[in-house]
Amino acid sequence: MSTRPSEVIAFGDRACGCAGLTVGPGTVWAVPDPTPLPEVPELLAAAVGAVGGAERPGQVKMATAVGDAIRTGDHLAVQAGTGTGKSLAYLVPALRHAVERGSTVVVSTATIALQRQLVDRDLPRLAKALKEPLGRTPTFAILKGRRNYLCLHRLDSGAPEDPDDAVLFDPFAVSRLGREVTRLREWASNTETGDRDELVPGVTDQAWRQVSVSARECLTVARCPSGTDCFAEHARAEAGRVDIVVTNHALLAIDALQGYQVLPEHDLVIIDEAHDLVDRVTSVATSELATAMITAAARRCGRLVDQDIADRLLEAADGFTLLLGDLEPGRMDVLPAPLAGCLAAIRDAAHACITKLGPDKPADVNAATSRKLALSLLEEVHDTSIRLLDAFDTDDKGRRDVVWLTGGDSGPGTPRPATLKVAPLAVAGLLRERLFNECTTVLTSATLTLGGTFDVMARQWGLPAEQSVSVRVDGVATDKAIADGPHWTGLDVGSPFEHGRSGILYVAKHLPPPGRDGLPPAYLDELAELIEAAGGRTLGLFSSMRAAKQATEELRKRVTVPILCQGEDSTALLVTKFADDPATCLFGTLTLWQGVDVPGSSLQLVVVDRIPFPRPDDPLASARQRAVEARGGNGFLTVAATHAALLLAQGTGRLLRTMDDRGVVAILDPRLATARYGSFLRASLPNYWTTYDPEVVRGALRRLDLAAS
Ligand code: SF4
Repeated sequence: MSTRPSEVIAFGDRACGCAGLTVGPGTVWAVPDPTPLPEVPELLAAAVGAVGGAERPGQVKMATAVGDAIRTGDHLAVQAGTGTGKSLAYLVPALRHAVERGSTVVVSTATIALQRQLVDRDLPRLAKALKEPLGRTPTFAILKGRRNYLCLHRLDSGAPEDPDDAVLFDPFAVSRLGREVTRLREWASNTETGDRDELVPGVTDQAWRQVSVSARECLTVARCPSGTDCFAEHARAEAGRVDIVVTNHALLAIDALQGYQVLPEHDLVIIDEAHDLVDRVTSVATSELATAMITAAARRCGRLVDQDIADRLLEAADGFTLLLGDLEPGRMDVLPAPLAGCLAAIRDAAHACITKLGPDKPADVNAATSRKLALSLLEEVHDTSIRLLDAFDTDDKGRRDVVWLTGGDSGPGTPRPATLKVAPLAVAGLLRERLFNECTTVLTSATLTLGGTFDVMARQWGLPAEQSVSVRVDGVATDKAIADGPHWTGLDVGSPFEHGRSGILYVAKHLPPPGRDGLPPAYLDELAELIEAAGGRTLGLFSSMRAAKQATEELRKRVTVPILCQGEDSTALLVTKFADDPATCLFGTLTLWQGVDVPGSSLQLVVVDRIPFPRPDDPLASARQRAVEARGGNGFLTVAATHAALLLAQGTGRLLRTMDDRGVVAILDPRLATARYGSFLRASLPNYWTTYDPEVVRGALRRLDLAAS
């Protein structure tokens, strides 16, 4: 063993335990090998003991598998049901790895709720519990996109003068905006993080835009007069010093796919809520072009260069508005020639503006800020018009991007401005190349197997299908992937819940299939009878807001229990009211399918009105379905049924949240029992005891109600 020096090299709060570090110019100090850290099961036992929990077989199995993945460098997909304690199962091996290697681990989630749980509850408890066995207190931080932090420079210099026309002409909106910005200014002098999520109550997006910038708009820390105090820069610097950085899928995607290095160097990524990864990555990789963007770019530019040059862009924007007004919303398989010409004109006019702005950076901060704001919009307009044109370069089969038109005068409610959108047909190739080929990745969720296999999700992520094996906690060994491409292992640690004893799956096989014109009367009758039998306690998950509203309206006339409907108040408040009063029912759509966590007797019945297939006119889903069919596959099963299976598993997963929960999942759509794809969908759900008999299920609900009253 070497003699001196024996200390480790400290970076801020973190110590690097690597041997043989270069400390100064030409000096290499030999550092003795550190005492080996305890293995994962031992650390997990210490952590579980410290937080007052009991050992859970699924949690031990998962933690060991995550430790193995870190050691071998193979990727790992773990399905872990509610109640497994999966956050501890990945955080413990991740912290061990970070401390042992002096590296940073990235943990990514889809929702703010889970980020908060990790940062406010799990990691502080773990840091305390593992301080002794790991030899020091592990560190962690949360990191979000630049837009989420207050920009001190924008606060000082003021927002650009191009608010939405709607705000400009609405005196109430102007005064509300003014009040919100005043509040934000007061908050700015008190906040330590500048993190929007810490502002309670929150403000509208419009107000927040007045005090924040995107990464493109940021002046950069080197030029910004507020750079040394910048909240976003402080958060980034902090993230570079800690063992675990908690972030979201969007930032992970920007870091991995878009070439902006926003996350610190890392060699391990853990993706929780991985069932949402593909959708979140697709959102990040989606661009859009609307008239308001083009005119804002032209106006900002017009203040800095010859008006004639900016006017060319304004003229192109006028043409764009006229052309979009003549088109039907929906997917575009052919780019109409006039629109192609108009996009080319927008591209060229934006390019002329960018060229005129020039590469030189004005010394004056105000001039530099105005130039940067104009440039960021012009580049967005320019790059998006190119991408839209390129999307139609090849024939249907070779296309990688899908283009569609949204908004305009169509559709109910407030008309939205017509917008052209372009999104990738698939993100598998991007994920495989930029994520899985770069570092070890662990993906986890309560729902990763669809139709009983990981293959469906694996294909969407860009991992080779097959070879993955579902393994329950009853001890069967896992198989390792051996196909070409990144190696990965699939592990299903099951659930601590006994679904067959705790829950009933009722399929209303006797009802007619759902129609296009709202909920059939028989569905409303069935729903009323189920709610009466359950004594309220019902979460109604509807496939559209229209159906949720129709059911609310009808059922309020028929049943005596209170019914809340999504949209009548903030979703968080509605869920709290629902949880606080067992007699209350809550109806809603997509947000509720994934975001409700109400343990106990307030939720004993989950009703689903119809199998949640994507709408036939959904541009991305329909294009993806067509692409699968062009390759000879089953587009419906691969895209639509998979989408429905994932949502069904998530929605019905709202029922059992603790070991003591009991209840019924009622699917009113009879196709779950009668259609050929029904078995695939049922295989994606937990193993509930199943019945088609309404009398049996109403009897069970009455008994549950009685027991809970
Ligand atoms: S560095 Fe960028 S984000 Fe930070 S204060 Fe300056 S302009 Fe705003």
